[in-house]
Amino acid sequence: MKPITVTTWLPRIRAITLWPFIFLTPKVKDDKCIMAHEMHHWTEQRRYWVIPWLVVYLVVGIFYIGRPMDRHPMEREGYRIQRECENLQ
Ligand SMILES: [Zn+2]
Repeated sequence: MKPITVTTWLPRIRAITLWPFIFLTPKVKDDKCIMAHEMHHWTEQRRYWVIPWLVVYLVVGIFYIGRPMDRHPMEREGYRIQRECENLQ
């Protein structure tokens, strides 16, 4: 199964994954590295189910409010994948 990608305006973020959808702003809709980051979340959400994944993400996120997004434990791998992709370009 492939994600259903939706290009839309998003408040304060460039992309978000809520399985089976990946929402992207027009500015990043063709960005392969952001898509690779979101595909990581998409795969995790498919594996762990989207609601439990989201609940854990938000609860853990409470402890990371005000810190850079890449510090969130559930964001680290996504950002690592994204940076690796960007370094290859
Ligand atoms: Zn992410």
